[in-house]
Amino acid sequence: MKIAVLPGDGIGPEITAEAVKVLQALDLKFEMETALVGGCAFDAQGHPLPPATLKLAQEADAVLFGAVGDWKYDKLDRPLRPEQALLGLRKNLGLFANFRPAICYEQLVGASTLKPEVIAGLDILIIRELTGDIYFGQPRGRRTAVDGHFPGSEEAFDTMRYSRPEIERIAHVAFQAARKRSRRVTSVDKANVLETSQLWKDVVTEVGKLYPDIALDHMYVDNAAMQLVRAPKKFDVVVTGNMFGDILSDEASMLTGSIGMLPSASLNAGNQGLYEPSHGSAPDIAGKGVANPLATILSAAMMLRFSLDQPQAADRIESAVKVVLASGLRTADIHSEGTKRVGTREMGDAVVTCLTHKTTTKS
Ligand code: NAD
Repeated sequence: MKIAVLPGDGIGPEITAEAVKVLQALDLKFEMETALVGGCAFDAQGHPLPPATLKLAQEADAVLFGAVGDWKYDKLDRPLRPEQALLGLRKNLGLFANFRPAICYEQLVGASTLKPEVIAGLDILIIRELTGDIYFGQPRGRRTAVDGHFPGSEEAFDTMRYSRPEIERIAHVAFQAARKRSRRVTSVDKANVLETSQLWKDVVTEVGKLYPDIALDHMYVDNAAMQLVRAPKKFDVVVTGNMFGDILSDEASMLTGSIGMLPSASLNAGNQGLYEPSHGSAPDIAGKGVANPLATILSAAMMLRFSLDQPQAADRIESAVKVVLASGLRTADIHSEGTKRVGTREMGDAVVTCLTHKTTTKS
């Protein structure tokens, strides 16, 4: 099992180190290799996704990714900005299906800004299409070179586009995922004003006819944003395009208490995947040892389940996280009265202790 470890920028190295530690605590053999990605790769090698990093990712069974980006790179030409590394990996590895589960752990009900009765027991899955939409359409603007020149005009645009095959394959992923859950899919679009969304809605409806056992409904993205905070438990599987999914999944993260708790998996047709927390590089807390590593640790669990065929090891990590939360340990983002505040490393250590303790007990 070959894992490419790409820690990236900001809190990326801190949180990835904890996930690696957790993986190493399992009684499994991994080949792990680390490479630069994002702003640190630009600083060292002049490109956010150096060829050696891309090659390592392509040859691995899975990629464990931290986060990329920092405000100091904001003035770079767009193709050289750290976030382009992630877009490049998604495109080159064909990672079209992004799974973002939003689960509210019993122990964290009080950490959400929403009322306990609204979020207790929440377990929804947002499936975001990842390689199409406005992020991959043709851009034009101040930081987009055209034939080596910047237009520098006072007008900019990005094109939103989707093709039928792109929508079909993500729709199949959503309906199949719903079969393993409560058999409900909500497709989110903006078909009242966007042509791209009308195609999206038509194609999802057609694919839905192949899954008569799954209930499908459609919702406009503005309404979905509202319903997610009004009555999030009404959703089960939500399938949507790249940009709407980006925004809605961040919104959903706050239902769970903190973005520091939300893992994600991005898969291609061959189950090769990139696993990363849903949050960014958090430059405001980088280097302070306070970031929550649980989203990354839970992403490693998703990696074991989806790409490395080790579902039992994934279960063990997820159980260990629950035990640690039940013991009252909290990083700053999920801390509340009556719980014990710990740093990034202590949180990772606690998960490791829980895993190794269980191993010892078993043997
Ligand atoms: P962010 O997710 O990095 O941070 C938002 C807020 O959440 C901050 O207050 C941060 O401190 C907090 N936060 C995030 N992760 C946390 C964790 N694990 N524990 C505790 N608190 C946490 O989003 P942002 O501030 O909008 O962006 C910062 C940088 O990250 C930008 O350069 C952006 O482009 C980049 N970014 C990268 C990715 C990625 O690599 N996948 C995703 C989103 C943003």
